[in-house]
Amino acid sequence: GGKERAGENGNGGGVSLELPEIRYTKLFINGAFVDAVSGKTFETRDPRTGDVIASIAEGDREDVDLAVKAAREAFDHGKWPRMPGSERGRIMMKYADLVEQHAEELTLLESLDAGKPRTVTRVVDIGTSATSLRYFAGAADKIHGETLKMSTQFQGHTLREPMGVAGLIIPWNFPAIMFFCKVAPALAAGCTMVVKPAEQTPLSALYFAHFAKQAGVPDGVINVITGFGPTAGAAIASHMDVDMVSFTGSTAVGRLIMEASARSNLKPVSLELGGKSPLIIFEDADVDLAVDLSISANFFNKGEACLAASRVYLQEGIYDRFVKKLADRMESWVVGDPFDPRVNQGPQVNKEQYEKVLSYIDHGKREGANVLTGGKPCGQRGYYIEPTVFTEVKDDMIIAKEEIFGPVMCLMKFRTVEEVIAKANDTRYGLAAGVVTKDIDVANRMTRSIRAGVVWVNCYFAMDADCPFGGRKMSGFGKDASMHALDKFLAVKAVVTPVYDSPWL
Ligand code: NAD
Repeated sequence: GGKERAGENGNGGGVSLELPEIRYTKLFINGAFVDAVSGKTFETRDPRTGDVIASIAEGDREDVDLAVKAAREAFDHGKWPRMPGSERGRIMMKYADLVEQHAEELTLLESLDAGKPRTVTRVVDIGTSATSLRYFAGAADKIHGETLKMSTQFQGHTLREPMGVAGLIIPWNFPAIMFFCKVAPALAAGCTMVVKPAEQTPLSALYFAHFAKQAGVPDGVINVITGFGPTAGAAIASHMDVDMVSFTGSTAVGRLIMEASARSNLKPVSLELGGKSPLIIFEDADVDLAVDLSISANFFNKGEACLAASRVYLQEGIYDRFVKKLADRMESWVVGDPFDPRVNQGPQVNKEQYEKVLSYIDHGKREGANVLTGGKPCGQRGYYIEPTVFTEVKDDMIIAKEEIFGPVMCLMKFRTVEEVIAKANDTRYGLAAGVVTKDIDVANRMTRSIRAGVVWVNCYFAMDADCPFGGRKMSGFGKDASMHALDKFLAVKAVVTPVYDSPWL
């Protein structure tokens, strides 16, 4: 432990390691890696140093057209939507095995591109990817409709058919998890797809495209267009031949996705957007547990998590004990090179996010919140920020209202259950919440009163392939993970016939 900080010895990217050769840098269309039509490329950078890792093909509207054409052909005439679900499941299981067999290489890539601690990436990002594929592989042969005994002299049944060509637009904070969150249920449903990874973190998606082909996913089923949001992303969202879009990212872009759908073919969209989730700690809570949860809920993945609990509400009687323990605990929190196994927190993903987070920290100071820990950048290069805890935060401060998406925790006090329910819900967002208490009645009251997609009691960030997540209010709608995610990729069709001479009506 100790208070080691990144770059104190002047080497922001100081851990020497064997970096993987970057094998895939082009668009993946119809089963082949190809240059962008324009021939353009963009650079993806190492957040430890700001140095270029690789040049990546920059897809735009024409490339999206080609990818959609391939996906359309694979859907309308190809094998994938027509093969037995068990066969799709078998190929997806093989895909999961390939991801796992290459876990070390994928872990390095993902840690490098996104600035994540390597040990965590292996378990959380890459481990979860394989799990998610297997979960939906198991679902691929269990897709069925229902029979309808209609009240008139008709009977019916429902068919659940694949939606068609899916547009999957993913963010940079969990590139691998988000890729499979969307690709796995889409594959299980029998859809074909065009995926756009975030421009900050394009590397792993291209590897995943390669492994899909190796596993036996037919050409055209998964297409990956690397490139920017306003060009490649917007072309997917507004495409007349894309049948649905599943998006994860900012609320502002979520709005653009809906507008693009409204202006084109009214494709259904699902939006997993930002949050400003509350963590509510009652007086009877185990203070060590509460401190642990507040740290992981705010500083895990350097705060680059839509589910982060960036509003921490403490009941008066626990406030002082909590603050003291938290300050002590933060003494041993290590910010630095994510390839160093002692490090808890790596650099923010890029310069833009780094500057945005620092400007929120300045806002907090100017508005009169008190800096308990951190409050500054650290290291001589790269995008490192000290984990920052603000105390004496008022409800109407910008840091208490807006999503910061960085390592910044805001502490606020409350007295009664009624008061904290009102505060917790006083936000435009509704993604997640945490409650820490030993009182089951308080816990039940809270879980039923908070308007959010998930409420954790005495834990935080506990997720699994079968645990739905996705928000309410301006955090969006539609679920990732769980069988609810599969439903997004299926259209329900009712089939009705008359019944003659039935003895039963
Ligand atoms: P963003 O919404 O701009 O980017 C997410 C994805 O959408 C990327 O692939 C991007 O290229 C694409 N995109 C951007 N503009 C688009 C457009 N006009 N049409 C179609 N696609 C478009 O997010 P960001 O700017 O990278 O991050 C900013 C904020 O987003 C963060 O500070 C955070 O609040 C939020 N965010 C949320 C999540 C989440 O998990 N919900 C993840 C990442 C970022």
